[in-house]
Amino acid sequence: MKLKTKLGLGLSFLFIVILTFGTLSIYYINRLSSDSKSVVRNNIESLVYSNNMLKALEDIPIRKDATGNFETNLKKQESNITETGEKEATQEVRKNLGELLKNPADSANYTQIRQSIQLINDLNQEAIVRKNAVAKNTAEDATLWLTIIFAVLGIIAFTFVVNFPSVISTPIRVLNEGIREIANKNYDKRIYLKQDDEFGDLAFAFNSMAEKLDEYESSNLAQLRFEKSRIETIINQMKDGILGLDSKKNILFLNTVAENLLGLKEAEIVGKYVADVAVKNDLMRSLLQEGDHKELKIFADGKESYFNKDILNVTNNAEVIGKVIILRNITIFHELNEAKTNFIATVSHELKTPISSIKMSAQLLNDRRVGALNEEQHDLIKNITDDSERLLKITSELLNVSQVESGQMQLNITRVNPAVIIENALQTVAAKAKEKNIRIHTGGSNNLPYIIADADKTTWVLNNLLTNAIKYSLNNSTVHVTATTGQGNILFSVRDTGPGITEEFIPRLFERYFQVPGSNENGSGLGLAICKDFIEAQHGKIWVESLIGKGSTFFFQLPS
Ligand code: ADP
Repeated sequence: MKLKTKLGLGLSFLFIVILTFGTLSIYYINRLSSDSKSVVRNNIESLVYSNNMLKALEDIPIRKDATGNFETNLKKQESNITETGEKEATQEVRKNLGELLKNPADSANYTQIRQSIQLINDLNQEAIVRKNAVAKNTAEDATLWLTIIFAVLGIIAFTFVVNFPSVISTPIRVLNEGIREIANKNYDKRIYLKQDDEFGDLAFAFNSMAEKLDEYESSNLAQLRFEKSRIETIINQMKDGILGLDSKKNILFLNTVAENLLGLKEAEIVGKYVADVAVKNDLMRSLLQEGDHKELKIFADGKESYFNKDILNVTNNAEVIGKVIILRNITIFHELNEAKTNFIATVSHELKTPISSIKMSAQLLNDRRVGALNEEQHDLIKNITDDSERLLKITSELLNVSQVESGQMQLNITRVNPAVIIENALQTVAAKAKEKNIRIHTGGSNNLPYIIADADKTTWVLNNLLTNAIKYSLNNSTVHVTATTGQGNILFSVRDTGPGITEEFIPRLFERYFQVPGSNENGSGLGLAICKDFIEAQHGKIWVESLIGKGSTFFFQLPS
């Protein structure tokens, strides 16, 4: 039954209850009212007329108007005859009144009239008593019937009042619970309402919706599971070690490579605070140190392997929700680099002797004792000497680089006089300076303390800086070399008045093979890189200050 019908029936019932009660009450009130009216009209009025007639009868011998009064009340009584025997008694009064008027002295007439009036009185009093009993019965009937109907309808209405709210509230509560469960993503929830009404329809629609959501969720979940296992497979098959952390630095996952490198099993450490794990694991500790030691040397795959550490922030709408630490295996690049370094070292070493021999032969050819040369031959020999000198410089630089890269650089650290280093370097570049008529001005403090350094390598550095300064200076200019004392160190500087270096290239100047674009001078781009390696290996520092059009000043400092 539809809810609408139920509500209609309920309200109709209440209407019937009100109607029945109302009708019955009106019926009984009307009945009682008409009973009392008929008593007043039929009997009490007759009693009044009888009493009036009795009074008038007493006055007839003494008052003239008494007869008229009697007549009036008798007429009223004649028109209000309601009880059996009342008519005869009234006629008797009329008849005796005629007799009395004819013979007023006959007292027997008085007596007759009085008796007839008394009879009318008695008949009406009896009728009043009888009718009162009837009215009493009617009132008792009314009370009885109204009580019975009230009890029956009251019980029905009470049952209705008790049960009807639950007809509405129970399904609403059940539906409410169902909706809450769905909101909590419990799509298994179903509602069972054995009602063939609108709530039943609603429960059916709810169940269909939950079923659809369940299907959608299951298919999404399956898709997500598939994607997850796909990503896990990819991560596990990667050659790099990968470690995932959540925003609270708890370990989320690590792949097989990371497991092997760290010597830990994923199942043992997942969910743990990474710093706790790092307490007992050196590699994990180095992984957590942000920035420092980006390249890690780890014993893996039965050999020394090299890994590059990368820490990536995992973000969601600009909020960092975790981190992924990637250990990139760069061993192969190390091996290739090593092979390249060995190759360069071998080639440079092998070339050095023949190039030196070519240079020496060219210098010998230039000697007049060997034979006179014409101008053209002289120029050719000079070219050979210059080129072989340049080749020697390059091979020596390559050798130095390969020594640095392979870690085979030998340092011979002693106490060295800075003045001696400057003097040696000046001697080496003197010829080149002379060629361009460049004056080398030395300055700085006298009686400098000794430096703790490798004399040859420091001289090489100063020599390289002076060579560059001469190379990039104009003819007839001056290059300044100074050495001054600092706090626990000696500061060397080489200043030229050359073209200067553009600011954007300065940070890259000490990189290997870097040459400022557009600088036409022949060179390898290795000189400054080797200078940096040599100075830093001796715990020193090297840098440059330069202004375009004004010149450059190269500084390096070494501990004293
Ligand atoms: P190279 O052998 O090519 O000179 P370097 O490492 O010595 O290699 O120098 C690298 C680059 O730095 C050079 O190509 C040059 O452009 C720039 N450079 C070095 N010294 C100076 C200087 N004194 N003045 C201007 N540029 C310089």
